[in-house]
Amino acid sequence: MFQADLHTHTNCSHAADSVEEMAAAARSVPLKVFGFSEHSPRPQGYVYPCDYQEKLLAAYPGYIREAHRLRCASTPDFTVLLGLEIDFITAEQDFARKYTQDYAFDYIIGGLHFQDTWGFDHPEGWNQLGLEERFKIYTRYYEDLSCLADSGMADIIAHPDLIKLFSRDSFEEWLKTPAAEKIITHALTLVKKRGQLLELSSAGLRKPCRQIYPGPFIMQKAAELGLKICLASDAHSTAQIAYAFAELEVYARKFGYTESWIVQKKEPRPLAF
Ligand SMILES: [Zn+2]
Ligand SMILES: [Zn+2]
Repeated sequence: MFQADLHTHTNCSHAADSVEEMAAAARSVPLKVFGFSEHSPRPQGYVYPCDYQEKLLAAYPGYIREAHRLRCASTPDFTVLLGLEIDFITAEQDFARKYTQDYAFDYIIGGLHFQDTWGFDHPEGWNQLGLEERFKIYTRYYEDLSCLADSGMADIIAHPDLIKLFSRDSFEEWLKTPAAEKIITHALTLVKKRGQLLELSSAGLRKPCRQIYPGPFIMQKAAELGLKICLASDAHSTAQIAYAFAELEVYARKFGYTESWIVQKKEPRPLAF
């Protein structure tokens, strides 16, 4: 029995399965707590080469309705939470904020996926980048992460090193620089100050970087700062719910963690492993 998976998607965006199918699969994992965290729509002009925005915009009201219904049907041994993953874009904060206020979500997950209008978690563009350009992109990622934390919009900071997705080797080179350590420490200190949870995501294991988000360097810093963590799969199908959670727990324990947290009605709550 696993405790909680707070980060999941449905076929209302680019995932495979319906709201109902995801909840049913979570119950049979079994999971104690299952959180829906569909993407919020994005402002115009921020698009991936192959996007789901139109579909999401049409499906969004129905998604909220259906997830809300399942949330209300929670039982003592299976709780459904309703969260939202916002695309935090520094220049477009008001757009995302509107969605966070639209409904009484249990929690908001803040995720960085764009630098200006470039969706960096799509492979296009990465191959042409030299090391110096990559280092600038990594720096910008943590500047944006500080901004996300400081905005106070999110309860949970998603996949805190997603930027390594297509360039783990270069990212690890960057991590050795004093500037990287300084800016990462600054961002994590803001996460701590704002009382936000840092997400441990198994999604990285399924991606080209083949590593949990965040990697050991950031995990060590997070543990030193006493950051609270939550576990997430970022599931895009029923089969990915609680993906590699045993591995996530072992990883967290290595850094001294004995519990993960959930956020229910905006209140963080601990759950022992
Ligand atoms: Zn994300
Ligand atoms: Zn996600």
